[in-house]
Parts: sequence; structure tokens; C-alpha cells
Amino acid sequence: MNLRHEILLIEDEKNICNFIATTLRTQNYKVSFAETAANGLSLAASGCPDLILLDLGLPDMDGIDVIRNVREWSNIPIIVISARTQEKEKVEALDAGADDYITKPFGTSELLARIRTALRRSSLNNGVPVSGQSRYTAKELVIDYDKHTITVAGDIIHFTQIEYKILTFLARNAGKVITYDTLITHVWGPYADSNNRILRVNMANIRRKLEQNPADPQYIFTEIGIGYRMIDNENL
Ligand code: CA
Repeated sequence: MNLRHEILLIEDEKNICNFIATTLRTQNYKVSFAETAANGLSLAASGCPDLILLDLGLPDMDGIDVIRNVREWSNIPIIVISARTQEKEKVEALDAGADDYITKPFGTSELLARIRTALRRSSLNNGVPVSGQSRYTAKELVIDYDKHTITVAGDIIHFTQIEYKILTFLARNAGKVITYDTLITHVWGPYADSNNRILRVNMANIRRKLEQNPADPQYIFTEIGIGYRMIDNENL
């Protein structure tokens, strides 16, 4: 049931552009592309694509500024594609409003999986607000937001208020990378110390309660230097 989603690709490297466009078209996506930020922004505004794939290193503008510009008027999902491996830029892109990132070189299946996740989350958000979902389910974990209960394999697990806040924020954004700063701001407020030591301590406690083997988590994954990503909600 592919509704012919339209994807706008903003990328100045021809090879990568062709590779991605071919991959997406065989999956029945409509693809439009731009080689500069200026063209990309004008296509984003005129064409109303369902998703933007954005290269951060463009000839005429920094990709981060493209994200900021789009976010002034649209919540359209943006996945950043970048050759840069520096965590700092990925964090900057996510904090500017990107939904996800993928690092070159990447495989076709990884790219398609990221696109599917982002599209699914965005169609969901357009219908029902994320906060309106009443349940999160993944493997043996169930979070019931209305009852404020968290169970693993049917057993109720008790979390502190802070732990609950962290866990439910990640669950409501399941599949998406949440940067340390975003999480800290959500839990402790905008004036919190951005040092993530307290967050790490809380996360260790959450994993101890949640995961069978905290060193090899199956629910909450660490994106080193960037943040955390919680496994997708199967309940959607
Ligand atoms: Ca480039």
C-alpha cells in the first residue's frame, strides 16, 4: 500500500544522487531532486514532498541552515545524508530539526528502512498527535501512558519519576534519535546543566530494570556521542 510518497533529494554529488534516485524509484517512490540548497528549498515549498533527504555539504548553503529554514514553516520529515562522521554535525542537524541521519557510505536497505520509519511516524503525527497514543509496545515491553504502568513480559516494573519521564519521552519518539541535550531539556528543563552525567546514571538504572543484558540492550540503543534511539513501537 505504497501511496507513491514523494521524496525530495537535495544532494550535489551526481553519483550519489543517481544511486539514491534509482533505488527509490524501484521502490515506487516519486523522486525530485535539487543540486543546490536554493533549488531544494524552492522545490520543498512548491512541491510539498513527503520527505526530504538532505546532504549537509551543499555548494551554496550549509545543510543545517536548510533544515532551520524548512522548519520555520514545515514539519516534513528530514533525513540528513552526510559523508561527515563527526558527531557534532549530526547533533547539530538533529537539534535544528532533522528527524534522522544516515552516514555515507550506506546500504540500500538501511536507507529504505530509515525512510519507511520517518514516513510512518509523520503520517501518524498528522492524524493523531503523538501524545494522544495510549500505548507503546515492543517485544515484551508495554508502556501504558494512561495508567502510567510499564510491564516487561507481564511483570510491572517500577521506575522513578525521572526514569519514567526519560523512558516515555524516548518511547513517544520511538525509532528516532533523541540527542542528549533534547532529552535533558525535556526532563530537567531548559536551564539544566547540559553535562549528561546524571542522564547516563538514570539511563543505566533504566536499562538495569528493563534489559535482560544492559550491556547488549534490545530496547534503548546508544548512538555514541549523539544520544539514544528507542526501538520502534509495534503498536502502530
Ligand atoms: Ca555534498
